[in-house]
Amino acid sequence: MANPPISRQQRRKVKRDSLERGRKILARGLGLEFVEDEALGVAFLIYERLTDESRPRRAAEAAEMAEQLLDKSMAAETSLPDLGCRKGCSFCCSALVTCTAPEIFRVAHWLRDNATGAASSIDLAAVTAEAARRHALTPTERFLGRTPCPLLVSQACGIYAVRPIPCRALLSLSSEACRLAMEESKGEVPVIVPAMNKGEMVRTLLLAAVSAAGLSDRGIELNAGVAAALATPDAEARWLAGENVFDGVLGADRMLSARGAQDHIAKLIRLLAS
Ligand code: SF4
Repeated sequence: MANPPISRQQRRKVKRDSLERGRKILARGLGLEFVEDEALGVAFLIYERLTDESRPRRAAEAAEMAEQLLDKSMAAETSLPDLGCRKGCSFCCSALVTCTAPEIFRVAHWLRDNATGAASSIDLAAVTAEAARRHALTPTERFLGRTPCPLLVSQACGIYAVRPIPCRALLSLSSEACRLAMEESKGEVPVIVPAMNKGEMVRTLLLAAVSAAGLSDRGIELNAGVAAALATPDAEARWLAGENVFDGVLGADRMLSARGAQDHIAKLIRLLAS
């Protein structure tokens, strides 16, 4: 038997409750298990920001919310006593980083806003040059010929405050094991799996909000994306209007997020928003 239709008043209450749940999760962080109500609440909250037309930087702000959610969610992992990651260790910073468009805009705004301050030591010409160099390589050459991320400054992340989800969620139990794996191709990086899983969950929720808003969920290589966003006038506004400002930029047609979960949450968001 079909469910009876709900009234407008009931729908408003469901929306309100969902947003309230989302605020609580944003303040507290996600757990290890995927809980649909919690995931929907926080993704709906991100969607509301992403579609708030009064905010010109709403895509970057949506990425900032995802970033806050991930940091809260990973508090247990980042405070592990045997965490191997520390400032000055950058063995993992030679892998290709693929992220979402909102994360790219967040980094591009930060670079512009801090051009005479915290970002002044970042060589933007090197970011553009490295993006072009990587683009010319074959996928195998890209994988084997790892080169340091041009956003590194003195072996530390130059955009640490706004680094994208893949960089935030990659934690290791041993920097020596990372060195061996990256420099000598020996052994494996002892990654902290719960942190990676939480990164995956948060990215899935950000992408669910992006696709529910009818925007492109294509993955974009970090350096090339930042170079394109900086070189394109009004890049964020144009992307929000549906323009492919990352045309030709290295990336992936769809991110390797949990696609089923992304599509499911996006569908629920559309229902709530209707
Ligand atoms: S953005 Fe920062 S953390 Fe990520 S690869 Fe580049 S330097 Fe490393």
